[in-house]
Amino acid sequence: MTKPLEGQVILVTGATGGIGAAIVERLAMEGARPIIHFGRDRHGAEALLARIGGHGWLIEADLSAPEGSFELWRKAVEAVGRVHGLVNNAGIRTEILIDASAEEWRSAWQREFQINFFAAADLSKEAIRHFRANGGGRIVNLASRAGQRGYAADAMPYGATKAALLNLTKSIARSFGADGVVAVAIAPGWVRTEMAEDFIATHGKAQAVADIPIGEMASPSEVAELVAFVLRPSQTSLNGATLDVNGGSYIR
Ligand code: NAD
Repeated sequence: MTKPLEGQVILVTGATGGIGAAIVERLAMEGARPIIHFGRDRHGAEALLARIGGHGWLIEADLSAPEGSFELWRKAVEAVGRVHGLVNNAGIRTEILIDASAEEWRSAWQREFQINFFAAADLSKEAIRHFRANGGGRIVNLASRAGQRGYAADAMPYGATKAALLNLTKSIARSFGADGVVAVAIAPGWVRTEMAEDFIATHGKAQAVADIPIGEMASPSEVAELVAFVLRPSQTSLNGATLDVNGGSYIR
């Protein structure tokens, strides 16, 4: 039986992180060939490529640099020719208090927007042009519950970048469907990765799960399963949605 993602080439940013690596493994399991983007962790990226039997590509790019996304997309197309899907997964979460100096405050907001949003917007621009010229494609944006319900006083830039990403997803979905381009956002609450471990180390697990009805964080593999499902070419009408993966902690 043909696998659901057979023949699909999918670029995953931040692929060596907790959720990114799970996405790559899931995509490979479903027959896709992933392009593994990494920022610094070449060793982790090589190990991930080995885990999927070498059936993919590795590309390094720093998304904190203004040209980073454009270089990444150019290298990806040079390496593979045709890309069918883009998963904007790379992200950071910075804690910054309103008592910080103006310089620290500005720098935190700018860095958070550059990596979490501008890099994704730039990649989406290039992907849409490529998809439009080559018979279509799919964009999946890793947003967050934080972008839906607002966020904590000590990490406001994070929530704002994710809200922007949700809006970008909807604009793409409304604007480029006729060109065969669809876009979907995934909005997890806490997912058990390094990002969550950093929070737990400072604030404790009880605080992280306090408002989650099922009392547990999501696992990277359940997010990955959903991303792979969204990328199935058979899902022609799934466009513009925000899929909540938050244990019931934010219900719309
Ligand atoms: P993670 O920290 O494990 O991974 C983040 C990835 O982004 C890493 O591979 C890292 O190298 C990459 N990255 C960061 N800065 C970069 C840069 N300048 N250039 C290139 N790559 C860079 O985090 P994760 O938990 O796997 O998060 C993945 C995505 O899911 C993020 O967008 C995050 O905001 C989102 N998310 C996570 C959670 C959670 O609780 N873990 C919840 C909701 C949404």
